[in-house]
Amino acid sequence: MTDRNEERTFAALPPAPGRGFAQTWWGQAWLKALEDAALDSEQVKTGRRLARAGAVGAVSVRPGRITAVVQDRDHTTHRADVLLQELSEEQWNRFLDMAVERAGHIAALLDRDMPPHLVEDAAAEGVELLPGLGDLEPKCDCDAWDHCGHTAALCYQMARLLDQDPFVLLLMRGRGERTLLEELQERGSAPVQESPDLSQEGVDAAEAYAAGDILPPLPALPELPDGPGQPPSLETETTPAPGVDPVAVEFLAAAAAGEAYRLLAEARGSGHGGHAVEAELTLAQDAVRLAAGSPDQAITQRLAGGSGRDREDLQLAVCAWRYGGVAALSVLEDEWAVEAESLARARAALESAWDEDERPRLRATHNRWTAVGTSTQLRLGRDGRWWPYRKERGRWAPAGPPVRDPATALATAEGDPMNG
Ligand SMILES: [Zn+2]
Repeated sequence: MTDRNEERTFAALPPAPGRGFAQTWWGQAWLKALEDAALDSEQVKTGRRLARAGAVGAVSVRPGRITAVVQDRDHTTHRADVLLQELSEEQWNRFLDMAVERAGHIAALLDRDMPPHLVEDAAAEGVELLPGLGDLEPKCDCDAWDHCGHTAALCYQMARLLDQDPFVLLLMRGRGERTLLEELQERGSAPVQESPDLSQEGVDAAEAYAAGDILPPLPALPELPDGPGQPPSLETETTPAPGVDPVAVEFLAAAAAGEAYRLLAEARGSGHGGHAVEAELTLAQDAVRLAAGSPDQAITQRLAGGSGRDREDLQLAVCAWRYGGVAALSVLEDEWAVEAESLARARAALESAWDEDERPRLRATHNRWTAVGTSTQLRLGRDGRWWPYRKERGRWAPAGPPVRDPATALATAEGDPMNG
């Protein structure tokens, strides 16, 4: 169960002139275990001076042991270790059982607090979390047989780390934070979601319901920012892991932020128009949606390749997308046989759209009507609206949004400014 590879490393801390080392009661208890046990109080003082001067390098914390390189005043360096006995599996089991029952203890730990009650409850189960007299066993390459200035300095540094995060002590005792929380989860406790007060006392339902009325009204929504903001730059000196394309990730983050902003604006009733993202886009559709966000060349290239289009196909698709999202894309890329009823309605619409002598000659294939002798085309959408198309560089390209009236659509396709 225990991950023996668990290890945390803490960067060297800056010098701490003139301040106490342990601010918390558990940090102080840790130091007391050192100070009361050291036979030579001079070494403890030296250690405190060294730690205060910033002589302790990065501290590695593992089950049963902390390690650091300490620089002495004569500039020699020493590898110092301080050993603390790990809890046995059996002791951990008892601790976890206790913690499951007292969800408040874990909640406190997650707040980086270690209430005395937690330590007392653990002790009642025969589990000593804090080191006692003589429990901090020194080991140093200066060959001292008791605590030397180096191991004492390491203990002082450790007190500063413990102040910030009591989980460091539990790691030394054999369990890292993640393992511990996983094991609690396995025991059917969900400490993270539970409020300590509710778990222990409970609140009468009627009381909780009545309190709803006396709650203050919700605060006003914050002002909508001017835009979704700049995504973080992922450009670092580090070479990305294989298969990771930071530029593409940056683009996706920006696209997601833009979409979130659009939804927020819509929810606030100051919608910007634009096309709502459909619930389930296919990959090929989503690639077009992303490409419509005007990414740079390289990303456009990937979106084209990834969605089975060449660059020009993708350009046309983006153009269609801007006129009408998924429906427009389907009209661009799919051709389908029109059902009899829709066909009859479409013919009637074409019939009545023009006076007899002005009616263009249209040749139909499936849902596409091409004006003979011109570079214009009408495409019938599934909802019965007409999409203007125009032939450009040998390819049919969308020329505008869909309309009910085929004459208007054709005029748009012709580029008639009166009807555009
Ligand atoms: Zn030493």
